[in-house]
Amino acid sequence: MGENRVRTRFAPSPTGYMHVGNLRTALYAYLIAKHDNGDFLLRVEDTDQERQVEGALDVIYNTLKITGLKHDEGPDIGGPVGPYVQSERKPIYIKYAKKLIDKGEAYYCFCDKERLDMLRENANALNRPFKYDKHCLHLSKEEIEEKLASGIPFVIRQNNPTTGTTTFDDEIFGKITVDNSELDDMILIKSDGFPTYNFANVVDDHLMGITHVVRGSEYLSSSPKYNRLYEAFGWQIPKYIHCPPIMKDSQHKLSKRNGDASFEDLIEKGYLKDAIMNYIALLGWNPGTTEEIFSLEDLVEKFDYRNINKAPAIFDITKLTWMNGEYIRMLPLEKFHELALPYYKQVITKDLDFMKISELMHSRTEILSEIPEHVDFFESLPEYSAEMYIHKKMKTTYQNSLESLEKALPILEGLNEWTFESIQNSMMNLVKEMGVKNGVVLWPLRTAVSGKQFTPGGAFEIADILGKEETLSRIKVGIEKLKQVQ
Ligand code: GLU
Repeated sequence: MGENRVRTRFAPSPTGYMHVGNLRTALYAYLIAKHDNGDFLLRVEDTDQERQVEGALDVIYNTLKITGLKHDEGPDIGGPVGPYVQSERKPIYIKYAKKLIDKGEAYYCFCDKERLDMLRENANALNRPFKYDKHCLHLSKEEIEEKLASGIPFVIRQNNPTTGTTTFDDEIFGKITVDNSELDDMILIKSDGFPTYNFANVVDDHLMGITHVVRGSEYLSSSPKYNRLYEAFGWQIPKYIHCPPIMKDSQHKLSKRNGDASFEDLIEKGYLKDAIMNYIALLGWNPGTTEEIFSLEDLVEKFDYRNINKAPAIFDITKLTWMNGEYIRMLPLEKFHELALPYYKQVITKDLDFMKISELMHSRTEILSEIPEHVDFFESLPEYSAEMYIHKKMKTTYQNSLESLEKALPILEGLNEWTFESIQNSMMNLVKEMGVKNGVVLWPLRTAVSGKQFTPGGAFEIADILGKEETLSRIKVGIEKLKQVQ
């Protein structure tokens, strides 16, 4: 670890899902490190023992793997400053907490739940934020020894001053100064012996040589207290980069708990991981140009954290969907086909030339999950009403639609070769022969073979994919339908 080497970390808690905001933090931390050829670390913050979720680590590893945010050090690959899982670092935190106690910067607190509840109620009644009243700071050495010896549960609290101010610098939000009277004596070590996030993040970021701390702005208000910890230890304060919140609208934060999509949900819905990453890169950052499409490599090159915004970012699913469509169109047809095939198979059991369907769908798909509803008519003709034959612009009526279909049927029946071209040629000849506009033949034909108002591809493509027998049978259904309304 050279003095100036940039080192960032992604420090997720194993919750079992990847919140969009966390993924953005991971991305920004990765970009800041890689932009400067630095190191990107993964640290698992699992000190909340009550919130253990089975398989949660896999979600983290898996997300980093598929998104390409490759970490240089972490629980699975080791590194020089491990362990990288906080629950395995328990003795370290205790050791450092005791150092603070020796310095008078922290103290044992034996207050029980009843007393704390009472303090909380009092604070509520006065409409003030809860603040521990430093009751245990005044215990004598002997009292403390005695309580410890008799096994009374304790926590260790930070000892913050009550007068003066504390200032810290954030790269995005600037210099922030708070009155020390606002600083709560936060818990550093909990009664189960595990550290709080508030303590562990400082100790670990220091011991792991983190130079740039990237995280959500919800930690901004605690940062003065973190600074006091760094100062108490005499450690160098890292650069803080707090990212703006991600909102679903002007009032509400995006939150998995309120049913907003996680990364896995988006993948499940058929968004491409590259599009998701591109989109979330822009949630609170822009390159200073109107450019919007960036690969991860582009981002590594262009990302400058000084361009991160303070203003909340709005997660706009419509914009993501548009961007996803752009990414789908950039895929080679074969790749699109590979991704789309499972979605065809959801609704089509017939053995069709799926590649031809991909040719139609490639330019029309925005998210993979919408594929089934666009192709289900290949499986079976949907119920549809004769009114669909009437199209003002195409100048179709019940009557001319029936005529077109009745003329088309024997011609198609007579085709020896069933290809897109043969279908097209024969039908265009019919148009000419009838002396009508294309639509008078093609609209009824497409309606008959699809039963839908909107389809990927036109009548010829659909008839070609359906095959001769199915096409003819669907045209006959159309003829019957039209006969009934004449
Ligand atoms: N474990 C914290 C979280 O998941 C990490 C915050 C940080 O990056 O420091 O929110």
